[in-house]
Amino acid sequence: MKLEQMYESMGIGRDVLLFGREIESQLAERFAAIDETAEYNQMKVLQAMQDARVSDIHFAATTGYGYNDLGRDTLEEVFARTFHTESALVRPNLISGTHALHVALAGNLRPGDEILSPVGKPYDTLEEVIGIRESPGSLKEYGVTYRQVDLLADGSFDYPAIERALNERTRLVTIQRSKGYATRPTLSVARIGELIAFVKKLRPDVICMVDNCYGEFVERTEPSDVGADMIVGSLIKNPGGGLAPIGGYIAGCRDCVDQASWRLSAPGLGKEVGASLGLNQSFFQGFFLSPTVTAGALKGAIFAANAYERLGFSVVPNSTESRHDIIQSITFGTPEGVIAFCKGIQAAAPVDSYVTPEPWDMPGYDAPVIMAAGAFVQGSSIELSADGPIKPPYAVYFQGGLTWYHAKFGILKSLQTLLDAGLVSLA
Ligand SMILES: *Cc1c(COP(=O)(O)O)cnc(C)c1O
Repeated sequence: MKLEQMYESMGIGRDVLLFGREIESQLAERFAAIDETAEYNQMKVLQAMQDARVSDIHFAATTGYGYNDLGRDTLEEVFARTFHTESALVRPNLISGTHALHVALAGNLRPGDEILSPVGKPYDTLEEVIGIRESPGSLKEYGVTYRQVDLLADGSFDYPAIERALNERTRLVTIQRSKGYATRPTLSVARIGELIAFVKKLRPDVICMVDNCYGEFVERTEPSDVGADMIVGSLIKNPGGGLAPIGGYIAGCRDCVDQASWRLSAPGLGKEVGASLGLNQSFFQGFFLSPTVTAGALKGAIFAANAYERLGFSVVPNSTESRHDIIQSITFGTPEGVIAFCKGIQAAAPVDSYVTPEPWDMPGYDAPVIMAAGAFVQGSSIELSADGPIKPPYAVYFQGGLTWYHAKFGILKSLQTLLDAGLVSLA
């Protein structure tokens, strides 16, 4: 069977396929650059694994307290070597990105300390962690205060305001790399480096922490290469490579990671405990695959930006912008557009492709939200997934794809769904 016939048997019409081909043909140079970054990062991870002398005994399961879990300790060494940090905490019992960020913050802050975010409001779930939105157990309840400096209208750092906001109580500066679901631009590693240099010049003792979610392996360097004391992320995003079934990481200076470890387990126990329960092989193997998985997701995001921009929709980042994370947003302007897009992504999934996503009133949101996720790992957003609140401007956020071919198919399927519903025209 020819490739076109294969696509046709999967519900993609000739016009959609040709349109996709035309878009893809213009992306050869960018895709080549992405492949080169993946190649570089593949070597980086491989070198770390070789230098840490990873061996099959590291895949063995431990139980109970998990004393002398060689696999866990070696995995943490691999993360530290790859990210060029003194230490790392990589654990299945860091249950999500939010949890890892909470442990990093709570472990390193004491009553009376202040957090500064010089890049505007942090990710939604951190509002409750910090206590920006009142929440039982927040850092605010433990006497940690919070200050924020917004980015300027053009997306640049407001250096004078940051200088004014830094005070004798400032203990930690938190910098979110990805825009998440905000409208500001995602920060490049180079820009993060400039910001950290500015902070450190004024206050060398302040801890600079970067929320690295969705950013890992998009560039050749990580924020830890440009002065971050701690980088934090989720293993069901980029660095789990789609194989990690759970987990988070905190990599950074020895003291910062130790402080976090006492919060994660208990003072006196720290990194020495925590059984890995047989998950180590998935963590090692997922991390090994992460550079190429991230590259596939990145190609999907760029392909979608180019396809939907051509059709007249506003896309962020736009078709030509440089990329620093794997998230893509597309503004459809109508509820029908958002719903059709998500239905297309769902129909393209390897798991639960036969279900139809519908908008629903999710707790914590002020409008119904529709989500498309047919993932091997629940909630995994390195796998192809999309969601959008049903409210103006009717935008969807989408990300992931374990392979470029699957990401591409998902986008073609979304286009086909919009076309069949009469919501776009390819001519
Ligand atoms: C996903 C994300 C988080 C939180 O991660 P969860 O695993 O969903 O808790 C935090 N910050 C950013 C920028 C993210 O993208």
